[in-house]
Amino acid sequence: MTRGRKRTRKRTLLQTIIHIMQSLNIINQPQPPPKRRLPKWLKRPMPSREMAFTSGVVEDLNLETVCESAKCPNRTECWAQKTATFMILGNVCTRPCGFCSIPKGKTGAVLPDEPQRVAEAAERLGLEYVVITCVTRDDLPDGGAEHFFQCIQAVRERTGAQVEVLTSDFRGNRDSISRVIEAKPDVFNHNMESVPRLYHRVRRNAVYQRSLDLLHQVKQESPETPTKSGLMLGLGETMEEVLEVCADLRTVGCDLLTIGQYLQPSADQLPVERFIPPEEFDELGEQCRSLGFSMVASGPFVRSSYHAGEMAGEVSSGFTVHSR
Ligand code: SF4
Repeated sequence: MTRGRKRTRKRTLLQTIIHIMQSLNIINQPQPPPKRRLPKWLKRPMPSREMAFTSGVVEDLNLETVCESAKCPNRTECWAQKTATFMILGNVCTRPCGFCSIPKGKTGAVLPDEPQRVAEAAERLGLEYVVITCVTRDDLPDGGAEHFFQCIQAVRERTGAQVEVLTSDFRGNRDSISRVIEAKPDVFNHNMESVPRLYHRVRRNAVYQRSLDLLHQVKQESPETPTKSGLMLGLGETMEEVLEVCADLRTVGCDLLTIGQYLQPSADQLPVERFIPPEEFDELGEQCRSLGFSMVASGPFVRSSYHAGEMAGEVSSGFTVHSR
């Protein structure tokens, strides 16, 4: 018997002894890894009664919000301030992204009255700036572009509010992207989410270049429309990789950038690799500003739609605001 085989046999024997001792409770059973504690800068307020109004409107109109579906940590604050991000095209997604808690699987029919329900919610909440996002609908020939168009129009007509869209990549379908541009959203947002090296885990079925191309197309077809993108940190990326993505975003003319901390919504999603301290977010924000973005929000709780109206408002002087 060679030395290597002897060592393997010894290990096997040792494992067997441990197993017997564990089953007899002579030594402790292995415990699941302890739940990672949040650092103190990531503590958020408990749900409050002030959230009830927003909650009531969303429930009453049978709407989906990404605030709830993605278990957003800012929900207490946003909902208390009567702000929510509407998620259209259902509550089931056709993509298996590793970071996202939205259910995946069989999708439902597109509901023709949804644009009016979103518009009514915006009216009841008194929103002057409405963010509309969606689940990815690879099962629809246009990826849901026409429905986006109808939602933007309905909100505008009913409330006069500004509308920001946060879309899927429409599988790169240029006609679909054009259809959304035609509705003249006040901001066109599409998130890169992570660095290309991690796409296979974080954003499976997405294509890094395809997302850049989408933002480029918006700028080509409607140069006056501010484009926006976002990244989550804490999934194993390096700062160099993040800065490379930000530089790529600038090459396609992206104007606004959000960078926040990834938080694992439940045990079914990817674990957090690192909690980035606020000072690092500040420093990264500075570096990104120097790349030429009109506005950068970088911080642990920053999300695409967090204070989206304020972010757009701060830069709107540099853009032609679409007439309605
Ligand atoms: S940050 Fe956006 S998704 Fe999160 S609660 Fe606020 S509005 Fe909803």
